[in-house]
Amino acid sequence: MKKQISAIKGTKDILPREAKKWQRVESVTKRVLELYAYKEIRTPVFEATELFEKGTGQTTDIVIKEMYTFRDKAGRSLTLRPEYTPSVVRSIIEKRLYLQPEPLRFYYIGPMFRYDKPQKGRYRQFHQVDIEVFGEEDPAIDAEIVEMANYLLKELKVYDTENLVNSVGCKNCRPSYLKDLRSQAEEVRRVLCPDCQRKIKLNPLRIFDCKVETCREAAQTFPEITNYLCQECEEHFSRFCDYLDFFGIKYKVEPRLVRGIDYYTKTTFEVVSSKLGAKNALIGGGRYDDMMKEFGGPDLCGIGFAMGLERLISVVPFTDKKGKFLYLVYLGDESKRAGMKVVQFLRRGGVECLVEYKERSIKSQMSRANKLGAAWVLIIGEEEVKKEQYQLKNMATGSQVERTQEEILKIIRESS
Ligand SMILES: [Zn+2]
Ligand SMILES: [Zn+2]
Repeated sequence: MKKQISAIKGTKDILPREAKKWQRVESVTKRVLELYAYKEIRTPVFEATELFEKGTGQTTDIVIKEMYTFRDKAGRSLTLRPEYTPSVVRSIIEKRLYLQPEPLRFYYIGPMFRYDKPQKGRYRQFHQVDIEVFGEEDPAIDAEIVEMANYLLKELKVYDTENLVNSVGCKNCRPSYLKDLRSQAEEVRRVLCPDCQRKIKLNPLRIFDCKVETCREAAQTFPEITNYLCQECEEHFSRFCDYLDFFGIKYKVEPRLVRGIDYYTKTTFEVVSSKLGAKNALIGGGRYDDMMKEFGGPDLCGIGFAMGLERLISVVPFTDKKGKFLYLVYLGDESKRAGMKVVQFLRRGGVECLVEYKERSIKSQMSRANKLGAAWVLIIGEEEVKKEQYQLKNMATGSQVERTQEEILKIIRESS
C-alpha cells in the first residue's frame, strides 16, 4: 500500500462548488473597490524577513510567533507574508510610485500565511482583501474607507454588522498613555497570563489583543487612550466621527480597539458581525502615518483595511445557481465528430458545453445530462449529421426541436 499524502495542517482545499462562492465574492469586491478608484497591485508571496520585522513590528504576536520564516538555498532569510501592508509600502518606495501622478490607492486579493493555532475558521494559509491609500491626511478619507467597507458588505448581502472606531494617538501623545498603561498593568500583573506579563514591558498595548479571559477582564480596568490624545489627534478623531455622521454611518467608539499591529496611528476601526461574535472582526484597519518614512520612503501618511475572506465567506449567503450548460449526446464516431464541431461553434458563441468522451448508450447519456443538471441537450445521430440539422432538447420544458447550429445558438441565446 502506498502512503497517502494529506494537505498540510491549517490549509484547506477550496473545491469547485465553494470556489464559485469565492469567485462571486471576489468579483463583487473588485467591482466595489474600483468604484472608489482603487487599482489592483500584486506583490510576491514571500519577502525578506526583515520587511515584516520592521513593518509589522518586532513585539507583535505575528512576528514573534506566527511567521513562516525559512532560509532559501542561498541562505537568505525569507518569510511568507503574514499581512500585506509592508509589501505595498516596499513596492511603492522601490518603484517610486509616489512620483507618478496616479493617486496611491491600491487593493489586493490573495493568500497570507501565519503559523497560528489551527481552529475552526482559522487557517495557516488564509486569504485577505487588502486596501491601502497613501498621501491623504484628511479624516474624510478615513470615513470614506469605513463607508466603502459598509457598502461592500451590503453588496455582499452581509447585514447585522457594527462599526467600532477608535484613535490610538500618535508618537507625541502615546508615550504618556503607555506609561500609565504600564503602571496599571503592573498592578494587576498576577492575574495576567505569562504572555501578557512579558508584554507589560515590551508593548503593553498588545495586552488588549489577548484572548485569555482573565486578561480581557483586567484590560477593562485599564486607562482609555481616548483620554490621552494630543490636540491634533483629538481633532482628527472628532472630524473623522463627524464625517461618519455625514455619511449616515452608525458606529461605536471603542477605546480598547488598538489592533494587533505596531504601526497604527490615529484612526483604527473594525467591522464586526453579530454572526461571528465580537472577537472576530470581518474587517479591520487603521492609519499608519509614519510607516512610509520609517522604511526610508517619502513622508506620506497611509490608511487601509484588511478583510478576511474565510470569515466573510462563512457569513455571505449564497444560492447555488446552476450553470446553464449544454450536454452533447451522440452515437458512434461520425456523430461524435460532427457534435464536436457543433459544440466548438456554440462555445465560440458563448454557450457552456460539456462533452464526455465515453462510449455510452443514448439512454445513459440522457440520464447523465439529467443528473448533472444540463439546461440543454444536443442530440446528434446519423440522420442529423446528414441533414446538418440537430435535435435540441430543453430539459426544463421537455420540448425538442430540430435546427441548424446557427438557429440553435440563437435559441439558447434568446432563452438566457
Ligand atoms: Zn497625538
Ligand atoms: Zn494574556
